[in-house]
Parts: sequence; C-alpha cells; structure tokens
Amino acid sequence: MRILVTGGAGFLGSHLCERLLADGNEVICLDNFFTGSKQNVASFSANPNFELVRHDVIDPFKFEVDQIYNLACPASPTAYQYNPIKTIKTSVMGSINCLGLAKRLKARVFQASTSEVYGDPQVHPQPEGYWGNVNPIGRRSCYDEGKRCAETLFFDYNRENKVDIRVVRIFNTYGPRMHESDGRVISNFIVQALKGEDITVYGDGSQTRSFCYVDDLIEGIVGVMRQTETPGPINLGNPGEFTMLELAERVLKIVGGRSKIVHKRLPADDPKQRMPDISLAKRLLKWEPAVALEDGLKRTVAYFKKRR
Ligand code: NAD
Ligand code: UDP
Repeated sequence: MRILVTGGAGFLGSHLCERLLADGNEVICLDNFFTGSKQNVASFSANPNFELVRHDVIDPFKFEVDQIYNLACPASPTAYQYNPIKTIKTSVMGSINCLGLAKRLKARVFQASTSEVYGDPQVHPQPEGYWGNVNPIGRRSCYDEGKRCAETLFFDYNRENKVDIRVVRIFNTYGPRMHESDGRVISNFIVQALKGEDITVYGDGSQTRSFCYVDDLIEGIVGVMRQTETPGPINLGNPGEFTMLELAERVLKIVGGRSKIVHKRLPADDPKQRMPDISLAKRLLKWEPAVALEDGLKRTVAYFKKRR
C-alpha cells in the first residue's frame, strides 16, 4: 500500500513510518518539523519507498494513497502550550484535511487521539466508555479539547460520509527518539540524571501515569488499523501504574550518578491519576504490552547516552 503519515518525523510517527516500510509499504511522511526532525527519519530516509514532505497539516494537501495515519500534533505540554491556538488548529483543521482526503480516496484513516480526552479522570482505570473530566478553558485545553473535537469530526465523517475511521486513545508512551528537551517526564528525568542535574518532580510526586514502550504501542496501532470490527475508540497503553516519585527513583537507579530529587510547582490541571483499561484491545487485537518499564527505561537511557 501507499500510506500517508502526518507527523511522521516525530517520536511516534518515525517509528510508525519505519514499521510500515518494514512491512513493504510505500510511505509519504508529511511534517512541518515543529517538534519532529529529519534526524528522526534519517536511518530510513534513503529507502526508495520513503518520501519526506515539509507541509503544515492545517493547509490542504492531496496525495494518492490507500491509507492515512494522522499523528501531526505536538504532544508534550511544553510544546502544545507554546502556541495554543496553533495546537487546536492543528488538531481540528488537520483532522478535517485528513478526513476530506480519506473521503475522496475511500481510504482508511487513523487518528492518534489521547488519554488526555479523559482529562483529570474520576474513573480509574479509564475505559473507553468514560466521557472524561476536562477543563475546557485551562492551559491543557488547547490539546485536550482539540483532540476531543478531532474525535467528534472522525465519528461525524464516519456517520455522515461513511469514512472508514480508526481512533486510538494513546496513553503515555516513551522510547528512543523522544525529544530530549520536550519536557515530558521520562525524557526530562533521564536527561537530568545523565547530566547529573536535579531530578524535577512536580508537586509531591504522588500523581500517577502508566508508561508504554514505543514498540508495543506501534504493534497495537498497526493491529487497530488492520482489524475491521470497530472504528474505535480503542485505548492503547501499558496498564502498569507508577507515581512520578517512583519513576524518578527507578530512573536514578538505572542511570546511577549524583542527581538529587527536587520538587517543583505542580502545573495547573495536571491529572492526578491515569491508567488505561485495555480490555477492549486485549479482546479484539489479542494485544498487550510486552516490554516492562525497567527494560524500556534501559533502552531509552541507552538511546540518550548515545546522543550525548
Ligand atoms: P511529537 O511531538 O514527537 O510528534 C508530533 C509530530 O507532528 C512532529 O513531528 C511535529 O513536527 C509534527 N507536527 C506538529 N504540528 C504539525 C502541523 N501543524 N503540521 C504538520 N506536522 C506537525 O509527539 P509524539 O509523541 O510522536 O505524538 C504523535 C501523536 O500521538 C500526536 O498526535 C500526539 O498527540 C499523539 N499522542 C502521543 C502520546 C505519547 O505519549 N507519545 C500520547 C497520546 C497521544
Ligand atoms: N512531571 C514531573 N517532572 C517533569 C516533567 C513532568 O514530575 O520534569 C510530571 C507531570 O507533572 C505529570 C507527569 O510527570 O504529572 C507526566 O508528565 P508529562 O508531561 O510527561 O505527560 P502528561 O502530563 O501529558 O501525562
């Protein structure tokens, strides 16, 4: 197949492009390089089945493709709050552009949604049927509400225009090619520990997250795109749950060194807990994460060490 991946030069997008190429597909990677880079796709950019296009997903585009994966959107709070209006435009207009193209081409189209649609959840763990607890006017809303609106658009195009959609709610994912200064917790902690700097735990560190290693997530995404049972939404993530203090201690143990844990102000609307209910993915895709946090952290530490 010929497949379009928007945001393909980002962390997840680059792993997805690599996987799709390995499966024998042609891949067109569309990216404006806001948080992604040519470096992320360098190891396979010489593959004749790969094409890199600098383009902004909010501007219309036309490609003759069989499938579309829409991943274009900054994902870290620092990056998506840098220009919040641009972030919401990216989710909303980017989705409209992908869906319009998919409609014309009768192509299956995938949306990278997020566990952030559950906001600061009052149901734990979060199943797909939970509608969430999102502040519509806070600092995180440009991302959360943008992604929620994108889901609405996907389901309306599906109902109104029979567009063949797949929506996945991705929970915190980490691994090689995360941007070292994008502000997400795993890259922050690892880079701080490698530099011997203080490990910055926000708040008292009792808030929880569940961390999925990138290879597991990509396997799940490809599985969701392949199946024909449901358009989604489907949660993908690793149900292991850790406090940020536990995470800091684990990173310190793996990296070693002299870093101390320090506490910084907790950002507004920071979700207190997050953990996916992945029963649906398990049943439909026979999928579940295989890489434990310890192993994934070691692989990610090795990546950041090599880059220094
Ligand atoms: P990332 O920031 O590394 O990748 C995003 C990519 O999109 C980058 O290459 C960036 O340059 C590109 N991009 C941003 N705005 C664009 C625009 N207007 N036009 C074209 N390209 C644009 O982040 P990631 O972690 O790889 O996330 C990829 C997708 O998965 C995002 O949609 C994100 O919301 C979603 N997601 C990721 C996670 C996670 O934990 N990594 C969790 C939930 C959802
Ligand atoms: N966090 C932290 N120190 C950091 C960066 C993040 O304690 O240096 C916390 C943050 O407050 C949040 C959690 O780690 O509770 C996950 O943050 P991240 O930005 O990675 O993802 P998200 O909040 O979007 O899940």
